[in-house]
Order: sequence, then C-alpha cells, then structure tokens
Amino acid sequence: GRKFFVGGNWKCNGTTGEVKKIVNTLNEGQAPSQDVVEVVISPPFVFLPLVKESLRPDFHVAAQNCWVKKGGAFTGEVSAEMLVNLGIPWVVLGHSERRLLLNESNEFVGDKVAYALSQGLKVIACVGETLEQREAGSTMDVVAAQTNAIAERVSNWNDVVLAYEPVWAIGTGKVATPAQAQEVHSELRKWLGKNVNPEVATSTRIIYGGSVNGANCKELAAQPDVDGFLVGGASLKPEFIDIIKSAE
Ligand code: 13P
Repeated sequence: GRKFFVGGNWKCNGTTGEVKKIVNTLNEGQAPSQDVVEVVISPPFVFLPLVKESLRPDFHVAAQNCWVKKGGAFTGEVSAEMLVNLGIPWVVLGHSERRLLLNESNEFVGDKVAYALSQGLKVIACVGETLEQREAGSTMDVVAAQTNAIAERVSNWNDVVLAYEPVWAIGTGKVATPAQAQEVHSELRKWLGKNVNPEVATSTRIIYGGSVNGANCKELAAQPDVDGFLVGGASLKPEFIDIIKSAE
C-alpha cells in the first residue's frame, strides 16, 4: 500500500522565533506512527539547519527548491549537493509559485527533478492547472504535460511523490472538492500506468495541495487516489497536527 504522506510547505514565511514556536508545537503534537504516515516539513533554506536539529525524529525536512545541476557559479542558488551534505532528505520542485512567478518551464522542472534524484534526494514534484486552464477544459492536458516532462527524464520513481496542486485552490480558501481531487488523481494514476508503467502507477503517492485545513482534510483523505497532502497556510498552525491525523 501507499503510505500516507503529509508535507508542510512553509513557503517564504517565518522568523527564528516563529520557527522555534512551530517546531515546539509539532514536537508536542500526537501523531500516528511512521508506519502510518510520512511527515515532511519544508521551511525556507535559511531555517533548514535549525528545523532539522530541533524537529522530532519521526518528522523529516525538505527544501523548497534546488538548482538544476551541479553547483558552481550560480549566484543565489542552492545546489542539490549542498542539501545532501546537510542531511536534508527531500526537496519540493516545480511548485506553481515558482512555475508562474519565476517562469520555471516544464522542461526546467523535469531537469531539476532528474538532477535532484541523481544526487540522492527524494522529490515532491508539483503539478497543477490554473483557473483559466480548468475553465478551458484543459486540466488533464496541463498536468499530463507537466508530468510528462518529468517522466521523460526520470526512470526510477521510487523517490518521487507527485503533488497535484490546482493553482486556483492555493492560498484562496477554495479547496478542490473531494470529487474534483479524486478525478485528477485517478487520471494522473492512469496516465502513469500508460506512459510509465503499471507498477509506478500503483506505487506512486499522489498528494493533494490547495487550501487543505483541519476541517476539510478527512473527506479528501478518504478518496481512494488521494495519498496525502501538501499543506501551505495550515502547516504554520497547530491544526497541521489534525491534518497529519487524517492519515488514520
Ligand atoms: P495553501 O495550503 O496555503 O493553499 O498552499 C498550498 C500549497 O501551495 C502547498 O505547497
């Protein structure tokens, strides 16, 4: 079976004081065992060492991005090798905020995923359509193209979690309905079965992101193809523990 996966994406938020507070809250929270749920917290780069050192050992950390190839003369970037050197096991790649605000193309994201995996990182790879694309009826074409750019470059999917995050649901309070999430997750799994292979389709976790909170997580988690969440705003709050508990 696919182990439930809950990621907390803190995005560009937090001061040292706030980070310590959130970590304390997480450390004191009651969570299901690691056999039941995999929990990964993704703070901004500068807080990664602090969070890694202070976070409970059953939760893990992720970077929110990394450079597309080996480090070097790339001012402002952080390389996959650096993350590995720091003992950071995971990285989030292809988040819609980076695709849209920083113009990261499908190909660039695919290259990043392949390089990060080659260095031994595990990857949370994000896909998702805008409202305009959904209304035009092109949701599946968009997420298939995004996934295809990854599939063309990646042969081993063991260390990939696919995050479906419809852009219109991110930070808007407009969560996808359980049926809307299930529909795209199920289509994505079919796509993997056809274009990668049936084993990868069955084993790859497909998690949902976009306005997930303590109140709506249970119904979403009950969908057969929803294998967890990537949580933004609510991951900064105590209710993140309730979202983790939806794994049970
Ligand atoms: P919100 O949970 O704040 O909508 O953000 C979702 C997200 O983008 C997680 O990566």
